[in-house]
Amino acid sequence: MAMRKKWQLLAAGLFVVSCGTAADLDEESVRTTEEQTLSFDEFRTTLPVDDSGRYIVEWDLLLDDEQLYDYWLELPSSHPGSLIINRLTDGSTPLQASTLTYCIDNSFNNGDKDKVEGMITTVVSNWSSAAGKTFSVTRNRSQDGTGCTNANNNVSFNVRKLSGSTSFGFFPGEARSNRELKIAGSHFNSTDFGGIMRHEFGHIYGFRHEHIRLCPAENTSYKELTRVDRPSIMHYPNVCGDGNAPLGNLSDYDKKGARCAYSGQCEWIGFAGAANDIGVSANGQHVWAIGNTPATGGFSIHRRSGSTWQTMPGAGVAIAVEPGGNAWVVNDQQSIFRYNGSTFVQVSGAARDIAVGANGKVWIIGNTADSGGYLIYRRDGSAWTPVGGAAVRISVDPSGNAWVVNDQQNIYKYNGSTFVQQSGGARDVSIGGDGSIWIIGNTPELGGYGIYERVSGEWFKTTGSALRISAGDGTPWIVNDQKGIWYNRWE
Ligand SMILES: [Zn+2]
Repeated sequence: MAMRKKWQLLAAGLFVVSCGTAADLDEESVRTTEEQTLSFDEFRTTLPVDDSGRYIVEWDLLLDDEQLYDYWLELPSSHPGSLIINRLTDGSTPLQASTLTYCIDNSFNNGDKDKVEGMITTVVSNWSSAAGKTFSVTRNRSQDGTGCTNANNNVSFNVRKLSGSTSFGFFPGEARSNRELKIAGSHFNSTDFGGIMRHEFGHIYGFRHEHIRLCPAENTSYKELTRVDRPSIMHYPNVCGDGNAPLGNLSDYDKKGARCAYSGQCEWIGFAGAANDIGVSANGQHVWAIGNTPATGGFSIHRRSGSTWQTMPGAGVAIAVEPGGNAWVVNDQQSIFRYNGSTFVQVSGAARDIAVGANGKVWIIGNTADSGGYLIYRRDGSAWTPVGGAAVRISVDPSGNAWVVNDQQNIYKYNGSTFVQQSGGARDVSIGGDGSIWIIGNTPELGGYGIYERVSGEWFKTTGSALRISAGDGTPWIVNDQKGIWYNRWE
């Protein structure tokens, strides 16, 4: 479940302020002696390769991938430094001061100074409204000009122009000498100047490069604030297969992450009640829960109504919801029931768990013990068709194929004819109506086990912990080991 252990072990504890953005990825292939601003992947692509596939550095030094990473770590300033927030070696995740002042040196003429000031005001306002907190970043004109250096203690930071094509921000808690906003001339003149400045102020507010979750080339000392988010303003374009060019505006998850960091409103939002299982329709519109009030057959059944729960008839232990909003329930006698709009009607068969896909396809974990758990069935017409395999938890993807978890915490996906094992280990699995794939992992945490989303074939840890998950339309609901109910949507 841990991703890219090698990188985590190799990653040094230190981190650095610098970072290139958008345009420099295309243009910057030459490393200067003063500053190495390339991520490891970027650096690697600049190198010639010998016929054995090893990288050539310093004319005649041959290094394999791991050796090259060590070499890169030793380069000066090789680790550009968030919506993940930077974590220091002491484990803390410092926030930026709400009030900052700055000056602009004469590398910008007076007209351009005003343009820089106007853009800073705009992007700070963007982060401010995202974070739900008033950030004030004010230019101190009396400090502009030749005295506006990184030794000027009358301002929080200084702004200057760089030749070349890399811009730099800084992180919260940096020493004054590192608190410089350095703007590449090409970025200043770029049509994406606003996007680049939103990115740099992202660093200033503590956020790391989003793409290092996908391609961990910088040190990976960070704390997750949201799910993996390729549209993030903090994700370089054209790396790790994706990202936005131009950088443009803050993504929805940038806003969530900023609100989590600065206003304490983090991604999982508590919902009223107590539950043992949760089921959300594939369009996210209909939410049902197995509550925590004991009743014959298991526990009480509830349907969400606004910000509270309506108690429904019957009782059960596991629940799933059709796209149209009606629920299927399994009770503690392994009996199966379907809500028909007014009452629960028993369906033939016996089950331990049940799932419904976005296309309405119903699957169950049956009641016949076999290696791995219990035999798996798909509902075809009004019959249960055995499909092979055994498991304990089940979900159905939008095309109607099942994902299961067995009693060894192994994960399998049905490919249309057989179950194929997937990487990782899980206690529960759920596929969203949008095709997103979520698991409750196998690493104990306060509240249950870690929550992971599958992106490009790998599991990426998100925030929170739980025992049960229902992905809904891709913004999941979870139940933790305290029976607490949490959801992921900002409404
Ligand atoms: Zn950056």
